[in-house]
Amino acid sequence: MIAATLFSLLLAAVPIHGAAVSDIQKRTALTDCLTAASVPQNLPGSADFTQAIKPFNLRIPFTPIAVAVPTTVAQVQAAVACGGTNNATISPKSGGHSYASHGLGGENGHFMIDMKMFNSVTVDATTGIASVGPGGRLGNIASSLFSQGQRAFSHGTCPGVGVGGHVVGGGYGYSSHTKGLASDNLVEATVVLANTSVVTASTTQNPDLFWAIRGAGGGGFGIITNYKFQTFAAPSANTVFSYTIFGWNAAKGSQVHKALQDYASSTSMPAEMNLRLFITSSSLQLEGLYYGTPAQFNAAIAPFSSAIGGASWTTQTMGWLDSLHNYAYMSLQQSTTDYDIHETFFSKSLMTVQLTQATFDAFWQYAANTAKGVSRDWYLIIDAHGGPTSAISKVGPDDTSYAHRNATLKYEFYDRVDSGSYPAGGQSFLNGWVASAVTAMAGTTLGMYINYADTSLTADYAHTHYWLDHYPRLQQIKKALDPEQRISNPQAVVPAA
Ligand SMILES: Cc1cc2nc3c(=O)[nH]c(=O)nc-3n(C[C@H](O)[C@H](O)[C@H](O)COP(=O)(O)OP(=O)(O)OC[C@H]3O[C@@H](n4cnc5c(N)ncnc54)[C@H](O)[C@@H]3O)c2cc1C
Repeated sequence: MIAATLFSLLLAAVPIHGAAVSDIQKRTALTDCLTAASVPQNLPGSADFTQAIKPFNLRIPFTPIAVAVPTTVAQVQAAVACGGTNNATISPKSGGHSYASHGLGGENGHFMIDMKMFNSVTVDATTGIASVGPGGRLGNIASSLFSQGQRAFSHGTCPGVGVGGHVVGGGYGYSSHTKGLASDNLVEATVVLANTSVVTASTTQNPDLFWAIRGAGGGGFGIITNYKFQTFAAPSANTVFSYTIFGWNAAKGSQVHKALQDYASSTSMPAEMNLRLFITSSSLQLEGLYYGTPAQFNAAIAPFSSAIGGASWTTQTMGWLDSLHNYAYMSLQQSTTDYDIHETFFSKSLMTVQLTQATFDAFWQYAANTAKGVSRDWYLIIDAHGGPTSAISKVGPDDTSYAHRNATLKYEFYDRVDSGSYPAGGQSFLNGWVASAVTAMAGTTLGMYINYADTSLTADYAHTHYWLDHYPRLQQIKKALDPEQRISNPQAVVPAA
């Protein structure tokens, strides 16, 4: 981080390549304002600025007009005030893992407030409530919670993901069928609003805001400076399991997919079962985490095994952190301040309730005829998300802004290149796969998940598919809290007229 000096102010006057003069004046005014308010910042042109704006998804880089790196709530307030004075659109960034680079603004010219210095994790030993800074990453947080009384909360699998953006979108992971979304574990948040005031959001204080920040995705309703989660005792018997089918065809894929929908829709799938189907061009891998012993797992999975024509499961029981590490595919310890892991990809999502047989057929015809022929490093994950025993579905459908409580299955389509650029026109592959289901389910709106933000969606389409019938209420709350859209990104909630 560079403290503002006369030299650095002169540096700030160096034009960003391609920036218009008015942008340069605006940037200078903003950096001057931050300097006057003693808000730490990364000045344009500095190595810290370059590092801060490097997106997780290298396919979509954007250049913010300025980058503040506050260390206190008062500095966040001052930064928001500077954004307002200078008519800048603000985007908070925590872990930088937005698939659409929304932490950078999702387009050029936003004012990025980097929350990476807010990364403390403290557990109250009496209540089990953890105070967690939004700039923390999931792996570090899980490790820290475990070291403070073997506590845990429910969250996603990638250890580098920032909790700041993860929770506001929902937050799904290997404990979600048992323990709910990350946002279902949230009991309180501290939020700096667009008008610079600091408020507490909970079921009793600012309940509309609390409703919104549990599913509305990032950037729209204020800048979260602290989360409080009700933790649970980390499970001790964690059975990791898998079974792989090599060399699939359309019929086999359709059979397994339908069996997954049926199993998740029934009470045969116990709450303790967390199951997903991981699809690549060469295999269908069924895998997950069961909270219990291998014998209990084998009994619980039997109806599903039988529906797919038999399965030979590999199981291994391990401790909580080892079970997280098993699916992290990297160390749980990640750099909070200088994270530098990136991929180049395009991603889409779906949330489905009950697909028809015709839809399974169309979906797997596309998989066999088109997806198998795409040589890029793609995958599709289908999670057993909801259903009668899922903790996610036990929360009332309108209790939070997360709009997918009744979705049985959740889909993450991920198409990446291991080196070089993502090809022009490459998006048609996943767009076509999603369209195969959407077309076959004509008349039913298939939801999508803001945490897998899809850059190919128009704002209107994103709003009605990320938030379904919750969108009008979100618009009303946005109108009350941020009518000028001071904090926003291209897919964020737009205030009601
Ligand atoms: C490798 C990888 C694995 C993933 N695995 C999972 C998974 O298992 N389960 C799952 O549900 N999701 C998963 N995701 C998606 C992830 O949850 C979202 O991308 C999430 O938004 C990332 O949060 P972030 O803070 O890292 O990102 P950022 O890009 O920093 O922020 C994302 C959004 O949140 C906003 N935001 C950030 N901080 C704040 C704040 N303090 N206050 C208000 N708004 C804020 C930003 O403005 C932006 O709109 C994964 C993503 C990646 C890249």
